Amino acid sequence: MDLSLPIEKLKNVGARNLPRLHKLGIKTLRDLLWHIPARYEDYSQIIPIADLVPDQKATVQGTVVKISSRRIFPRRLVIIEAIIEDDSDTIKAVWFNQPYIATTLVEGTRVSLAGTVKLDKRGLYLASPSYEKLHTDDYFAYHLTHTHGLIPVYPETEGVSSKYLRFLIKPIISELVIEDHLSEESRMRNGLIDLTTALQKIHYPLTLAEAEQAKERLAFDDLLLFQIKALLERRKINQLKSPAIPFDKELVTDFIRHLPFELTKDQKIAAWEILKDLERPYPMNRLMEGDVGSGKTVVALIAAIQTAQDGYQTVFMAPTEVLAHQHMETIRKLVAHTNIEVGLLTSSTAWTTYSLGKKPEIKKRIARGDTKIIIGTHAILQKDVEFNNLALVVIDEQHRFGVAQRAALVKNKELVPHLLSMTATPIPRTLALTIYGDLDISIIKEKPKNRQKIITRIVPPSGRQEAHQFIRSEAKASRQVFVICPRIEVSTVTATGTLPLSPSSGGGPSGGTAGTGSPGLGREGKVSVAKQQKLALAQDMKAVQEEYKKLSELVFPDLKVGMLHGKMKPKEKTEIMNRFKEGFTDILVSTSVIEVGIDIPNATVMMIENADHFGLAQLHQFRGRIGRGEHQSTCLLFTSGAEKTSNQRLKALVTTDDGFLLAEKDMAIRGPGEFFGTGQSGLPDLAMAALANVELIKKSRAEARLILTEDQNLTNHPELKQQLLRFQSIIHFE
Ligand code: ADP
Ligand code: MG
Repeated sequence: MDLSLPIEKLKNVGARNLPRLHKLGIKTLRDLLWHIPARYEDYSQIIPIADLVPDQKATVQGTVVKISSRRIFPRRLVIIEAIIEDDSDTIKAVWFNQPYIATTLVEGTRVSLAGTVKLDKRGLYLASPSYEKLHTDDYFAYHLTHTHGLIPVYPETEGVSSKYLRFLIKPIISELVIEDHLSEESRMRNGLIDLTTALQKIHYPLTLAEAEQAKERLAFDDLLLFQIKALLERRKINQLKSPAIPFDKELVTDFIRHLPFELTKDQKIAAWEILKDLERPYPMNRLMEGDVGSGKTVVALIAAIQTAQDGYQTVFMAPTEVLAHQHMETIRKLVAHTNIEVGLLTSSTAWTTYSLGKKPEIKKRIARGDTKIIIGTHAILQKDVEFNNLALVVIDEQHRFGVAQRAALVKNKELVPHLLSMTATPIPRTLALTIYGDLDISIIKEKPKNRQKIITRIVPPSGRQEAHQFIRSEAKASRQVFVICPRIEVSTVTATGTLPLSPSSGGGPSGGTAGTGSPGLGREGKVSVAKQQKLALAQDMKAVQEEYKKLSELVFPDLKVGMLHGKMKPKEKTEIMNRFKEGFTDILVSTSVIEVGIDIPNATVMMIENADHFGLAQLHQFRGRIGRGEHQSTCLLFTSGAEKTSNQRLKALVTTDDGFLLAEKDMAIRGPGEFFGTGQSGLPDLAMAALANVELIKKSRAEARLILTEDQNLTNHPELKQQLLRFQSIIHFE
C-alpha cells in the first residue's frame, strides 16, 4: 500500500471534497490514516428495543416494517418516520429533511440504527439516528461503519463530517497491510503492537483498551522519531568546532571566594558541568533550568569569567531591555574586583565599565575585543554588532538558539560559539529530554539560603477589602506592590482557540492554552499567529488600563499607581520599570507578559487578579518576583470565588514553593499539550499527549539510541529515514 498516494486518487474523494480535506491537513493516504479520532461514540451494545429507556444512546438492529415521509408546509419541513422491529418490540425512528431515507430504507430492509432515545406523548422514538443497512445475516456483525461498536468521531471541518471520514477510512482500514518500520524484535522489546493493527484499532477498536494500545504505538513512533532527530542533531553539533577553554580551577575558586554569598550546591554542580563543556573543542549546547531567584546568572557568569580569562568574549542576551539592565547591574558588581570589561548595549543605552562613550565607541570596543562580557537584548546583538572573538552565548528565557543563529554572530564561521540557555520554567527532566533532547541539562533546585518564605493567600471576593487594606499598609511602610491582571478575552480570538498567556519571548510552558483539541482549528490558528499576538497585546492593554483606572481612582487614590503593558514602546517600559525600581511608584499594574526575571527587593506584595485564569507554573513565576529582599513578602491570589475546583488547584501554590513539583502538578491538571502550548514543542498531538507517559519516553529514547548505534545513517531503516524527513518538515526547531 502506497502511503504517499494523493488523496484525490481515492475513488470517494471528489473535486468538491478535496480542498476541504486539504484544509484538515489530509493530502495523502498517510495523512488520512493518521487522522486520529478525537474520541469514540460507544455503540458497542446492541439493545433489544423492549429494553430502551429515554435519553439512552443506543444501537438497535431490526427490520424496517413501515416507512413514510410527510411534508409540513408552513415550515417546508419533511419528516421521515420508520417503524423498526426486532424480536422484542418495535420503535419509531424520526428524521427531518432527508427524504432520500424513505427510498433507501424501504420496507423489509434490515438496518442498524444508532442514536439517542427520546420520549414524547406517543412514546419512545429514535431521534435522527445514524443508520446502516445490514447486508449479512449476522445481526451482530462487529464494526459497522457508523452504528455499531466504538464509532470514531474525527476532528472535522466544514463539509468534512465524521460520517464522511468514516466512509473514506473504513474500507481502507479493513484491507490494510503496511510494512512496519519497527522490527518485531523492537516491538517485543517495547511491548508494542504492529503498525497495521495499530492503525486498524485506532480507527475501529473493539474496546477502549484497544484504542489505548493503538495510541501508545503511534505515539511511540512519533516520540522515537523525535528522539532520533535530537540525537542526529547532537551528533551534527558534536562534529562542529568551538574554542576549547580550559578549566582553570584556581581562577574559578578565587572568583567564587570573592562572591558576596555562598553558592548553593546545585549552583556549584551546574557551574562545574558548564566549565567541563567549555573545555571541549565542540560546541556546548546546554540548558540551565532553575526556579526564579535560584541564581542562574552568577553560574553563567562563572563561565563568562573563565572565557574572558582565555581572552574570549561572552554575550548575555536578555529578552527585554529591563532584564538586560538588570544583568548589567548584577554582573558589574560581581566582577568589580577583576579587570574584566563589561558592556551594556540596548536600543537606548550603551556603556561599558571602562567607557561611557556613545554607541559607535562602545561597538568599536566590542569589535576590538576590549569588552569581554557584553550584555544586551536579542534584537540589538543579533542585528548590528561585530564581535572580536565570541566564544560563549548565554541566553535568558529562550530555550533554543540554533547553530546557524550562533554562527551568524561570529566572523570566523569555523568556530561556533558555545551556548548556554537559561530558563526559569521548571520542566521535569524526562520531559526536557524529549522536548529538548538535543540539549544537555543542568538543574538548579536548591534556593539560596538567605531566601525567606513567601506567604501565599487565596483571597475570595469577600476578602478583597481586607487585602486592599493590607496593601495600603505595606505601601505606607514604603514597600511596593505588583498587580498582575489576566487578559480580557475578546470573542474574535476565542473562536480559533484561546491564546497563550505565556511571555511573548516564547519558549517553555505557556500559562494559557493553545487549540490542541481540534487539529483543524489548530492549523488554521497558526496561520494568523502574528495577528493573534497583536490582538492579545491589545487585550492585555485593555485589562491593564481598566485595572489601573480602578486602583488609581477608586481603591488607592492616595498612592502612586503605575502601569505597564506590552503595547508600550521599549523606552517607555524601561522608564516605568525604572521608576518602580527606584521606589517612585507604590503599585505597578501590569500584564502577564512583563519581565520574568525582574529583581526588585523592595517589592513585597504580588497581587494577582483572577488568579484562576493562570496556570500553576505561571503563577509560581509571578510569585518569584517578590521575596527577594529582607522583608516578609506576601502573594495574594484573588479569585472570583465561583469555582471550587480552581481553588483546589490554587491551594497547591499555598502549600509548596517547589517549582518543579508545581510544574508536574500543572501538567497533570492541564495535560502536556496545554502545559507546553502546541507550537512550542513541534510535537504532534499524539506524542504530546504521551508526554505524561514517562515510561514510553524512556523506551523511545533507548530505542532511538539503539537504532542509531547499530545503523548510523539509517541505511537499514529506509522507512524510518523517510519518515524522519517527513517528520522534520513539520517540526520547526529554529
Ligand atoms: P535567576 O535564577 O532568577 O536568574 P538571579 O541570577 O537573578 O536568579 O539571582 C537572583 C539574586 O540572587 C541575585 O541578586 C543574585 O546575586 C543572588 N544570588 C545568586 N546566588 C546566590 C546565593 N547562592 N546566595 C545568595 N544570593 C544569591
Ligand atoms: Mg534570571
